[in-house]
Amino acid sequence: MKYISLLGATGSIGTQTLDIIRSHPEQFKLAAMSAGRNLDLTRKFIGEFKPELVSVQDKEDCTVLRQEYSHLNIQFIYGEEGLVETACYPKADIVVNAVIGSVGLYPTLQAIEAKKDIAIANKETLVTAGHLVMKAAEDNNVKLLPVDSEHSAIFQALQGENDKNIENLIITASGGSFRDRTRDELKDVTVEDALNHPNWSMGAKITIDSATMMNKGLEVIEAHWLYQIPYDKIKVLLHRESIIHSMVEFHDSSIMAQLGTPDMRVPIQYALTYPDRIPFPSAKRLNLAEFGKLHFDEMDFNRFPCLRFAYEAGKAGGTMPAVLNAANEAAVASFLDGKIGFLEIETMIEKALSRHTAISNPSLDIIREVDAEARQFIRSIS
Ligand code: NDP
Ligand code: MG
Repeated sequence: MKYISLLGATGSIGTQTLDIIRSHPEQFKLAAMSAGRNLDLTRKFIGEFKPELVSVQDKEDCTVLRQEYSHLNIQFIYGEEGLVETACYPKADIVVNAVIGSVGLYPTLQAIEAKKDIAIANKETLVTAGHLVMKAAEDNNVKLLPVDSEHSAIFQALQGENDKNIENLIITASGGSFRDRTRDELKDVTVEDALNHPNWSMGAKITIDSATMMNKGLEVIEAHWLYQIPYDKIKVLLHRESIIHSMVEFHDSSIMAQLGTPDMRVPIQYALTYPDRIPFPSAKRLNLAEFGKLHFDEMDFNRFPCLRFAYEAGKAGGTMPAVLNAANEAAVASFLDGKIGFLEIETMIEKALSRHTAISNPSLDIIREVDAEARQFIRSIS
């Protein structure tokens, strides 16, 4: 039996992780979970999975739940401290980090110190402080298992291979909700339009990130850290069907790819069972003949400036990716709140980046300062 601690249980990745646990009760048990503010779903999961520890975002919600469940032996906690305690829950064999945003960073670092293996969906953590996370994982001999489908594909393609033979990583991109629109056609798009992704059903923030192509930019930085590959060896290829989830090209010109239907439960499950695989009965089988053709296109950096910003921030290094990420989180939140237009997400991020001078090899405290400052700046111009 593998005991799981799940951060972000009420989100898109969180609920899909619970699907896996539900399908394999003989293999997995939910030991601890965290939620944000969705109490209805939290109650549903407490009833179904009976975790021993539950963390929520706000103190008031924690008090309400403590009273409601006083007849059960469940520990309720809250806030950032709650996230950390959930991540470090002694009984957990593995932590799934599926919170959204750089709020996932500190709990990840603490879980690594507690020697927990981590299935990492929370890409903002690696973007913000990849150098700290990778060093801590190495020092503590902890596995970081990718959940993001592209990074899981690369991870699978690298099994049994020598990293020294990698020529390029090729990350595929579906193109997001607006892939067939020109920049001119983007001026007046609504939040609703942007949330309508053609291939994947995901949380709101990452769906907007897919439309701006910032998601792919964050994934390039994520891949740089996970696989320790320089940026000029990480390529992005437009592939509208999302069937090839990513590829590795080796020195001898061979390319290894991982294919599948777009279903996040497959990479989530692989992270939980690695290096083994177990059946997942309800996952739709891929029928390539149904597709007939797969399409690939060069990525256009003028059409998708956020991807360019991400490469530039990644190459600048130090605190620059933390600014990129924080500015993006704040700008996307402003767009979702109806305060700014879609194209302003890009211009605001560009402003935040251009006013920042990168500090190299930053500590956690410096990263947190820079992150807070970038968010404040975006809020002040939204
Ligand atoms: P969602 O927005 O669907 O879920 C986010 C989760 O985090 C929810 O449980 C939410 O709680 C919780 N949360 C949000 N803010 C806080 C906070 N301040 N404190 C504590 N908990 C908080 O996100 P996704 O599941 O889409 O994404 C999660 C991560 O996985 C992201 O990093 C994303 O980039 C990555 N990812 C997602 C994919 C997908 O298909 N969705 C694919 C690949 C990667 P509540 O809802 O209760 O408020
Ligand atoms: Mg992805």
